[in-house]
Amino acid sequence: MNNLKESLTPFIIIALFLMAVGCQQQPKTDPPIRISNMNLDISPGDDFYRFVNAGWLDNNPIPEEYSRYGSFEQLAEQNDDKLFELLQSIRNDKSALHGSNRQKVRDFFNSAMDTVTQTEHGTKAIEFLLTRIDNIKDKNELPEIIASLHLKGFGPVFSLWAAQDRKNTEEIIANISQGGLGMSDRDYYLNDDARSIEIRENYESFIEKIFILAGNSPEEASGARKEIMEIETQLADASMTRLQRRDPHATYNKKTVMQLDASMPAFGWDSYLTSLGINITELNEGQPEFFGQFNQLLDRQTKDAWKTYLKWNVLRGSAPYIGQEFEKAHFDFYTRVMTGSEQQRERWKIALSTLNGALGDAVGQEYVALHFPPESKDRMVDLVEYLREAFYERIEQLDWMSPETKENAFAKLEAMNVKIGYPDKWVDYSDLEIKEQPHVLNIIAAREFNTLRNLEEIGQPVDRDKWFMNPQTVNAYYSPTMNEIVFPAAILQPPFFYPLGDDAVNFGAIGMVIGHEMTHGFDDQGRRYAKDGNLKDWWKDEDSRQFEEKTKILVEQYNNYVMLDTLTINGQLSLGENIADLGGLTIAFHALQNKLNRDGRPSEIDGFTAEQRFFIAYAQIWRNHMRDQRLMQQLSEGPHSPGEARVNGIVYNMKEFYEAFALNTENTSRYIESSARAEIW
Ligand SMILES: [Zn+2]
Repeated sequence: MNNLKESLTPFIIIALFLMAVGCQQQPKTDPPIRISNMNLDISPGDDFYRFVNAGWLDNNPIPEEYSRYGSFEQLAEQNDDKLFELLQSIRNDKSALHGSNRQKVRDFFNSAMDTVTQTEHGTKAIEFLLTRIDNIKDKNELPEIIASLHLKGFGPVFSLWAAQDRKNTEEIIANISQGGLGMSDRDYYLNDDARSIEIRENYESFIEKIFILAGNSPEEASGARKEIMEIETQLADASMTRLQRRDPHATYNKKTVMQLDASMPAFGWDSYLTSLGINITELNEGQPEFFGQFNQLLDRQTKDAWKTYLKWNVLRGSAPYIGQEFEKAHFDFYTRVMTGSEQQRERWKIALSTLNGALGDAVGQEYVALHFPPESKDRMVDLVEYLREAFYERIEQLDWMSPETKENAFAKLEAMNVKIGYPDKWVDYSDLEIKEQPHVLNIIAAREFNTLRNLEEIGQPVDRDKWFMNPQTVNAYYSPTMNEIVFPAAILQPPFFYPLGDDAVNFGAIGMVIGHEMTHGFDDQGRRYAKDGNLKDWWKDEDSRQFEEKTKILVEQYNNYVMLDTLTINGQLSLGENIADLGGLTIAFHALQNKLNRDGRPSEIDGFTAEQRFFIAYAQIWRNHMRDQRLMQQLSEGPHSPGEARVNGIVYNMKEFYEAFALNTENTSRYIESSARAEIW
């Protein structure tokens, strides 16, 4: 996923995994657990991750176009093949009416595949934007131009979007948030460690390269680089860190537009909002310090420097779509330097992921009709209720939580909504015009359509049927303001969900995923939201103190988890995800016990008990190879721990795991004494 798009995904949802981009097919009849993927010579007490996965890791080296390759990517690959087949049938459908979803999907995909036209048109396709910027006569035109770029999906300086008011979730309000950086974290501008310096140098070369490709002399390109780095570094300096942004109270500052306007005399908010086409009197300002600094920067920087910065936003955001040299420069920085991949993905895969971002529902609707069996939904509903029941029992037996807080927790769990497979209502694309034209223009049209759809929600009742992920995406999420867990159709396949598999493997894989998402409602961030999604404290002080005390153990454990040379995981940044993994696996284990107690215990399969198969299925879903660059990026930007740590960092905290494999202080090199274990939910 490219950087621009990430900065424009501001909704608070907590996904299971970083977005997976999807080589090898596995036949559907594969058993859920294959001994050849394991290494039985390794003791489960020494390295459970490799006990389960060493065979697979040895036999599946990372392909050149990947920075991470594992279960998610394999499933995404298989899924992409299905989507490609679907697209071929759409492309061959000569009867698709003009204005229909099929016509739009076809023309969008064809424009994405047509690299000849992309290269031929190059920056000519976006000249209308570049000229508009060139013609700026005065800095007071900036609000209007920034608004017009925001509408078209570019992200200069900050972002604005509509979402539920965190403290009154029945209402949709506008939110503004820090942004405008070309590198994926503020720290890369400010830190002086070797990796940050290297990334920064590559970024600066990338800027120059793009300006030269756009027709500037090397001197002009060098001048542009200086202006851009100065503005972006100052924006970075004014930005909150990732850790600071984990506090939902710190980013909630509701105020009137008049107050905001008064605090930022250099920026005409009226002009900005009018150009966006929205009429509002109040909004949430995510980072007041950032906007204050931006106001000063407006005065300090010249009109020409701002023009260069805005052009950079247009060029950078368009680079993957305006010809092969631009695309390569973009790939070299965002993918090769940042993640270590050595090769671009195949053209159709790039086209497919762009299409999913632009017309996700149009593709998803046809995808689920072909590939999502209704029985899967019924089984998922059943699984979710087993997980909910087990979570209830876990809360009930907690010795550190008061009865009052428990009652509130039960109520939140009870109210948690569940969505499975695909939305009941599909996006209506009638107002989106996609045609045979240079790809970047279709991209801009789709982004503008999606931005306008979002802005139209302001002041409207909350749409409870809305999804924040496509059904064809291999992932899942929890939304704290909706208090709901969502499982797209694409994740309901092996190795997450085995339609023909036994309960043990299904509870260990998709059951744990369900438990993980549920636990997000009760992690260090999610616990601050009440059952109706409102940011409101429902904990007794002493219970909060106990919770924080318990989570400190997990923070310490992960802070000491060495992943590469001396690099460790950031325990605080990844805390929410680690709580969700530990809680999710524990709850899924007890849900399985309830199921087996009701249905009877199965006999061993391949010599493994149900409990052992449960943990093996869990460890399988997190197997992956990761390039060092990608690993470093994940460690610094978080929030998810790398696959190995999602397995070994969790299981050695669980007495259920030690019991399942008959492990004890004698035969377990990673044994954690019960007093030192993290146990939260
Ligand atoms: Zn998660």
